[in-house]
Amino acid sequence: MFGVMMNYPLTLAQILEHAHRIHGDKQVHTLLPNGKVHTYNYDTLDRRVKQLANAITTLGIRSGDSVATFASNTYQHLEICCAVPYAGAIIHPLNVRLAPTQLAKIVEEANDKLIFVDRACVEQFSKLQQKIDCKHIVFFNIDTGQNENRTNLSIEYEQFISEADNNYISDIQDENWAMALCYTSGTSGEPKGVLYTHRSMFLHTLAVNQADVFGLTESDVVMPLVPMYHAMGWGLPYASMFAGAEIVLANANHTHIVDLIAETGVTVAAGVPTIWARLLPELQKRKQEITSLRRLIVGGEPMPPTLIEAYEKELRVEVRHAWGMTEMSPTGTFSTLRKAHQNLSDAEKTDIKAMQGRPIPGVQVRLVSENDVELPWDGKTIGELQVRSPWTARTYYKNTSTAEHFTTDGWLRTGDLATINAEGYMQIVDRAKAIIRSGGESISSVALETALLKHPSVNDAAVVGVSDKKWGERPLAVVVITSQTDEDISEILKQHLATEFPKFWIPDKFVVVDEIPKTGVGKTDKHAILQML
Ligand code: ADP
Repeated sequence: MFGVMMNYPLTLAQILEHAHRIHGDKQVHTLLPNGKVHTYNYDTLDRRVKQLANAITTLGIRSGDSVATFASNTYQHLEICCAVPYAGAIIHPLNVRLAPTQLAKIVEEANDKLIFVDRACVEQFSKLQQKIDCKHIVFFNIDTGQNENRTNLSIEYEQFISEADNNYISDIQDENWAMALCYTSGTSGEPKGVLYTHRSMFLHTLAVNQADVFGLTESDVVMPLVPMYHAMGWGLPYASMFAGAEIVLANANHTHIVDLIAETGVTVAAGVPTIWARLLPELQKRKQEITSLRRLIVGGEPMPPTLIEAYEKELRVEVRHAWGMTEMSPTGTFSTLRKAHQNLSDAEKTDIKAMQGRPIPGVQVRLVSENDVELPWDGKTIGELQVRSPWTARTYYKNTSTAEHFTTDGWLRTGDLATINAEGYMQIVDRAKAIIRSGGESISSVALETALLKHPSVNDAAVVGVSDKKWGERPLAVVVITSQTDEDISEILKQHLATEFPKFWIPDKFVVVDEIPKTGVGKTDKHAILQML
């Protein structure tokens, strides 16, 4: 027997309409390349989204069509990420940092009918443009929003929307309609497409807005330093709009990020650990100017405990360490402390926060052995992490060979090796593909990297497995050091690691570099390191 409640479809339209009706005066700020800030409110956003929805419909875009973006985080990009699904089509933010050949394959697979291009990315785009056959390209200009450098072949964004009506009634007929397409960042293999539905995005938005997850409120000013192509900016823009929080959009590499935090009063900011490591010295110097900042949401890679301490103790900014995957929209687990941890020492609390955390409500996790036996949650036993939730993919986009990635009983195989303790805190040991197999034993690159980052002379570190005739593989460390020294840094770091790990774990070689290569989403790029070596 069915209950009697309304079967009201869960769609992005609800999020947009709520933001406009209830929080219309709340602002969206964008950091412009010249360091100035562009600001308008959700009412203006809503008007422009409706104009844009009409404009793309007039162009012939229909439900189920894919519309790509090649852009940094700006108000126009946000408008596009709202208008395209509002019009029933699929928004597909392209990872601007991927190689043109890789991107061309992705554009072909997605069959993108229209691409919006940010003029700030036009140089990279020109390399892609030669390789693709996309019917419509609309350019927008972050600097002025005006029509500049007009060519006969391109459509100008401002003109494109200004001619359109600002009345638009969304007609999303089913919450299971596709709404967004994101590709994995390709850290350990070719990027794979994940096709989100309106329902999955809506439920993810509700889930992350709980107090122990993103915990956004109407009073927050949220700065996602996460590109939209990285799982829709980790869902932060939609979550902020639903909560009625203000949004601050910026390119993470901009030199004015700290000015922006001070000027707009950012309260919650999000990004990968690399960004927070890079910004730390300036934030420390200008501590008095950033007192509004109260929380960081960090994930994508392990957050080093030393960095957690620096933010929490010195800057009084709470760090919430999350684990997730593009396949999970992306949020899976969050490392917030329990009431039972209140009386622990600061060091013990940091250790808990440095774990990847407990499943957020709605997400289920399990640990599984190589022969498919479920493993205990004892904080020691290592197994493959498997997950399921209403916002987890059940298959990849246009990909039929999924046995490697999905179990027959409906769980996603994450490809991550982890432990889970009795309290439900999960800790990533390594990606299965990155674990180093030496003489039949496993060596965790993550554990070695975390330990190296604890040494005061180390700024950044990565450990990779290199093939070895005798042992199969041996660990090799690549480090960025704080300052040049006459001392033998390899010896110093070997001794440092020897206090924590067995002898066979200690890397045979330490290579000092100026910078560790990063992927387009700011993660350590181990492929590039191996090539570099
Ligand atoms: P890719 O797998 O190509 O990097 P994603 O950006 O979707 O694509 O990354 C998901 C993966 O990132 C996870 O499976 C995990 O290996 C890693 N990851 C995400 N968050 C964390 C974290 N907090 N700590 C360690 N690893 C993480």
